[in-house]
Amino acid sequence: MDSPPRTRGKKPSTSKIPVNQQQQQSGVDNSSANLPEDDASKKKNAEFLPFKAGNQLLCRWRDGIYYPVKIIARRKLVDGGVDDFEYYVHYIQFNSRLDEWVRLEQLDLDSLKTNIAEEGHEELDAALLYEHEKVTKVKNIETIELGSYKIETWYFSPCPAEYNDCRELFFCEFCLTFFKHKSQLQRHKKKCDSRQPPGNEIYRDGTLSIYEASFHALLHTPNMLKQVDPKKNWVYSENLWILAKLFLENKAPLKDINRFLFYVLCECDDSGCHMVAYFSKRKDPEGIYNLSYILTLPPYQRRGYGAFLIAFSYELSKKEGKAAGAPERPLSDLGRRCYERYWTWVLLNILKQRRDDFSIQELSQMTAIHIGDIAKTLQDLELIQSTKELQTRHCMDTETLDRLLRDAAGPPGGLKFDVTKLDWTPYKQEQS
Ligand SMILES: [Zn+2]
Repeated sequence: MDSPPRTRGKKPSTSKIPVNQQQQQSGVDNSSANLPEDDASKKKNAEFLPFKAGNQLLCRWRDGIYYPVKIIARRKLVDGGVDDFEYYVHYIQFNSRLDEWVRLEQLDLDSLKTNIAEEGHEELDAALLYEHEKVTKVKNIETIELGSYKIETWYFSPCPAEYNDCRELFFCEFCLTFFKHKSQLQRHKKKCDSRQPPGNEIYRDGTLSIYEASFHALLHTPNMLKQVDPKKNWVYSENLWILAKLFLENKAPLKDINRFLFYVLCECDDSGCHMVAYFSKRKDPEGIYNLSYILTLPPYQRRGYGAFLIAFSYELSKKEGKAAGAPERPLSDLGRRCYERYWTWVLLNILKQRRDDFSIQELSQMTAIHIGDIAKTLQDLELIQSTKELQTRHCMDTETLDRLLRDAAGPPGGLKFDVTKLDWTPYKQEQS
């Protein structure tokens, strides 16, 4: 999404926050937050090693500052002795996307809270570890390489079993096949002729392009059968989902994949169409939902691609002849923020331009935004008192609207969806 705070509320790179203030925020006795390099004092808690799930103590993050963490799991170090473990920790003050594996030397033994231990996890082999990760949401893949980027992942993703012992994946950025080793990817790139997502290009504006990928749609389109191997397209859709799971929580199980269409936004240059963001949408032509999940790849966030795709999703609803559309819930935290900014920006601009009175229902007809989302947005802006005021006529003064518009961040990057560039037939009609 476009505005991805890496933490909930506060970034952990708190180097500007005085140490004594950090100590007050921690909730753990961290009188040793400025830890002495001399680790003699740490040894007094060595008897509690290895730490157990549920133990809480301080952990040194990458900015050099110690933060309170809770241990979620442990595993033996591949290159360590029989008693050498690393620990999967959750930074208590921050979003779980920062959870990570850390080594013992990053942990402050003096700060250990031993009276809140939960049942510990003994050494896990690759298959058991995978099952454990699936249940506990311990992140299994830590980084991916995609195009020219190496990207830290945020969440557990259900990769095939052969990747259970793998901490890094190497993706072909065009066909999305992924590998355990960079050398495998390099071999693949020599023979891979994909330079764009499989499917139809349905939007082109300068270097921006949107492709629609659908396993079934391609199977049923005779001319596409010549160009696209259906199996390849299935792999692409499946790998889009695996990729999304690395950055989104609580999304639909994989078995539903053939019920979705995928819209892939690319930045194109001479070397090909590089995926920057995408969303999925149910094929169900009757439903109100016009977007299932949306992901802007982390290197491309804060550039307006998320808002661009959201605008596009509403244009699809209009083309389908629907009164309005809405994203499926629950939204991720980043997704919710992106939507709220989009709704606020769109609605305030209409309210500012229109001088006459009109109802929320009319606002919905203009924008294809569901009246519930409009009412909630206007209530959050304190422009209406209740989400039940669906027929409230707008009587906001220019000064208030100007102030709200100044506060509302418009889409970054100046990207604007141009509906005249859209060449698309709704799925329902395509199948008839
Ligand atoms: Zn490839």
